[in-house]
Amino acid sequence: MTLAFTPLATDLESLASKGLYRTRRVINSPQGIYLQVDGRTVLNFCSNDYLGLANHPAVVSAFKSAVDQYGVGSGSAHLICGHSATHHALEQELAEFTGRDRALLFSTGYMANLGVMSALLARKDAVFEDKLNHASLLDGGLMSGASFKRYRHGDIEHLNSHLKKASGQKLIVSDGVFSMDGDFAPLPALSIAAKDHNAWLMVDDAHGLGVLGAQGGGLLDYYNLNQADVPILMGTLGKGFGTFGAFVAGSETLIETLIQKSRTYIYTTALPAAVAEATRASLKLVIAESWRRDKLKQLTERFSVGARQLGLQLMNSTSPIQPIVIGENQQVINISQTLLDAGFLVSAIRPPTVPQGSARLRVTFSALHEEAHVDSLLDALDKAVTNLNSGR
Ligand SMILES: *Cc1c(COP(=O)(O)O)cnc(C)c1O
Repeated sequence: MTLAFTPLATDLESLASKGLYRTRRVINSPQGIYLQVDGRTVLNFCSNDYLGLANHPAVVSAFKSAVDQYGVGSGSAHLICGHSATHHALEQELAEFTGRDRALLFSTGYMANLGVMSALLARKDAVFEDKLNHASLLDGGLMSGASFKRYRHGDIEHLNSHLKKASGQKLIVSDGVFSMDGDFAPLPALSIAAKDHNAWLMVDDAHGLGVLGAQGGGLLDYYNLNQADVPILMGTLGKGFGTFGAFVAGSETLIETLIQKSRTYIYTTALPAAVAEATRASLKLVIAESWRRDKLKQLTERFSVGARQLGLQLMNSTSPIQPIVIGENQQVINISQTLLDAGFLVSAIRPPTVPQGSARLRVTFSALHEEAHVDSLLDALDKAVTNLNSGR
């Protein structure tokens, strides 16, 4: 038995020697701008709970009363007996929120992406993906069995050159707000490319929904694009919405096709109804409380001005995802550790999550942060990076 695992142990050692070993931190508090880690309180700058809803009293209380009403487990998949009235109501509210005919809940965003692409594509078809798309989109494209092409990040010319050569049904797939870079996909141009080549367009707006647009409708709202422009919209509920799960929104035909054919929809247990009920409460807050989006914008601007003054290498992002590229894996780990010692939790993101040589700190903001928090982070970053440079 020991022998059989020798190659795995060798792999693990090799990951460690390259600064690529991943470990988990045990958190002893609810999500929020302060987290309890190893018995200490640290300021959190790595969560995707952008709007600060994961522990909002109204969301928590909706969850609790739904558990009293529906219990905890959903009992089965949606197509057997797990589809409750509250799931159904949330789907209708998400359809209305996104301005689409219908929405369909999935248990996670990862599963939604796998399920959509494998339901819509066959071997004779072709899928085109931005090089920096989320892993679940890349996996979905590969799993679909269709011809799989990646185009350079945001490069429409490159995409068009692939589209020209393709046959079968074509599907273009992109993150909306890119998860590790924070920049926006050129959605208006992608939509034109799709129409020109008779291709479908799918956008995963996990990081834009709730954060961008007057009412939080995300990057499509920001660009003023509708269901005809982007026929397939996927969103997650575990980020801006602060809960858990995901949805796909689009036409009646799209949603019915997914119900019939999407294996990650059909063959999995429905989300607990209480999660759906909590999400209904958070959706109301997302729509009504635009101060959360305004606050995020202010904090992000303050940070980006300050970071540039310090000479930190930011990316081309105006979203609350503000990466600082460091490059080398071990260096980014050291800086992240120095920051943690100083009381700031900022994650070190390394390959294969990001391309080789572009290891980075991924700073994210929450609407619950204050300007003073941003200033203290800038101070700590200045010291951590200076420290590193003088230590070389
Ligand atoms: C987080 C994320 C997902 C996965 O969603 P989960 O609900 O966490 O499985 C998919 N796409 C993008 C762009 C993401 O950032």
